[in-house]
Amino acid sequence: MTLVAAPRVPEPFVRRVAAIVGEGRVSQTPPVRALYSRDMWPKTLLWTREGSFPHPPDLVAWPESAAEVAAIVRLCASEGVPLVPFGGGGGVCGGVIPLRGGISLDLKRMNRLVSLDPESGTADFECGIIGQHLEDELAKRGHTLGHFPSSIYISTLGGFLAARSAGQLSTRYGKIEDMVSSVILVTGTGEKLDTASCPELLQALVGSEGTLGVFTHARLRIHPAPEARRMQAHSFTTLADGLEAIRVLLQRGARPAVVRLYDPLDTFIVGSGKAKEAGAGPLSALKEVFEERFPAATPLFLRAALAYPATLNQLADRFLSRVLLILGFEGSREVVEAELGLAQESCRTLGGRDLGPGPGDRWFENRYKVSYKQSKIFAAGCFVDTMEVATTWDRLQGLYEAVRRALSDRALLMAHFSHAYPEGCSIYFTFAATAKGASERERLYDALWHDGLAATQKAGGCLSHHHGVGYSKSVFMAAELGEGMRLYHALKDVFDPHGILNPGKMGL
Ligand SMILES: Cc1cc2nc3c(=O)[nH]c(=O)nc-3n(C[C@H](O)[C@H](O)[C@H](O)COP(=O)(O)OP(=O)(O)OC[C@H]3O[C@@H](n4cnc5c(N)ncnc54)[C@H](O)[C@@H]3O)c2cc1C
Repeated sequence: MTLVAAPRVPEPFVRRVAAIVGEGRVSQTPPVRALYSRDMWPKTLLWTREGSFPHPPDLVAWPESAAEVAAIVRLCASEGVPLVPFGGGGGVCGGVIPLRGGISLDLKRMNRLVSLDPESGTADFECGIIGQHLEDELAKRGHTLGHFPSSIYISTLGGFLAARSAGQLSTRYGKIEDMVSSVILVTGTGEKLDTASCPELLQALVGSEGTLGVFTHARLRIHPAPEARRMQAHSFTTLADGLEAIRVLLQRGARPAVVRLYDPLDTFIVGSGKAKEAGAGPLSALKEVFEERFPAATPLFLRAALAYPATLNQLADRFLSRVLLILGFEGSREVVEAELGLAQESCRTLGGRDLGPGPGDRWFENRYKVSYKQSKIFAAGCFVDTMEVATTWDRLQGLYEAVRRALSDRALLMAHFSHAYPEGCSIYFTFAATAKGASERERLYDALWHDGLAATQKAGGCLSHHHGVGYSKSVFMAAELGEGMRLYHALKDVFDPHGILNPGKMGL
């Protein structure tokens, strides 16, 4: 069996790329091309389990400088070869899939801290740096960016900027688009653009997911490393009370770094003996509770449980109502103490039961364990995915109910609320399901996404809070942007007149 189809770009083109980056930094081997044909989009995990790599790049190249990136882009533009910027491949929407072949441009060799100015509170980085390495570089110098996504070990600064990523402490530090003050981008014609000279363009380029240019450098706003951190948890009798506590707290001016309100089923699972792994992801935690007791029967258990999602969801609705809220505060000691005081008061007023720092401390310790444990769920013939949407406070609970109504007959469904703002909040749904046979599973997977996003848009939610759009949500872009879609096409024509940059993504 061949792993991937033969490359389609002509040999002289490959030699010209190799002449730009050097011989050892180009590959066309089948395993490498298979690897770069996918990201962490769960549907590509389903494909991989079936041994299918339908969209390999024709070649992969590893540039080391903006000049090399620009030379490769110019070559692609002149030859009409598609180019897909590749960060860590940690995206979850199929953003790096080379739908029309061409080059995957892996930027991870561009990974340097270029300069740091403590007086202005800024640092310049190359965009291929992995998130954890970026924070390590800053920590050595007594600073932080404050960007700690769960994928921090496998994703890059360029990928964060491209997808408008949010870290776990975003309520205090903001999303990546709040942290960046300028970028250097190579456009689809190979020109270098520094947005420091045209700052109004910055926010049109951030979030463009490789369709308008390749980010090579970014200037970021940094902070002194926090002096103090305190975690605090409360339990509420209803979800509405927990949400109200967050809203009141944010609108009183507090900026907790961590805000995580688990819905009743998520609270039950996080609390049921595996609270020490509150960061492990709800379905993984459920699986582990079972695995400890009946190790051999776990795949069977998962398949059997997920064969009756409607019943499980109904049982949860019938018997569970308490919710867990974890808050975390960091910064200077005075600010932390003041915000903690405000939080205690807001939670008490809404009937919150004080659980102390324990659940939050345990979450913090395990905060990156998250979904790296997914593979066993897929191995059991099931799938799990997450859908992160957001809206304003007046629509939030309606959005939550609408998505549950749309999916709960076919998938086990739970959610937590995080990334809070004075005007609204995001909802992070986890859904898990199973079906007999690979093609049935794919059909169910697609139907759940379609119905979940349709319900989201109808209820006034946005398509994505921080995972981006990529390939998987591309068909929803026109409805999301409305008239804005026409402007986006116009931007595409200007920044990428040859249409080579990451074609087929973001509704383009
Ligand atoms: C287990 C897990 C947990 C996650 N947790 C979070 C989380 O907490 N918060 C969060 O926001 N996301 C999270 N994600 C999603 C993912 O990490 C983000 O989408 C991240 O921004 C992707 O970065 P990357 O470097 O891996 O990008 P890639 O997957 O390589 O690329 C993503 C998109 O960005 C484009 N791109 C990459 N680099 C560049 C560049 N230099 N210039 C232009 N375009 C570029 C690509 O073409 C593609 O369209 C998680 C993913 C996983 C698997």
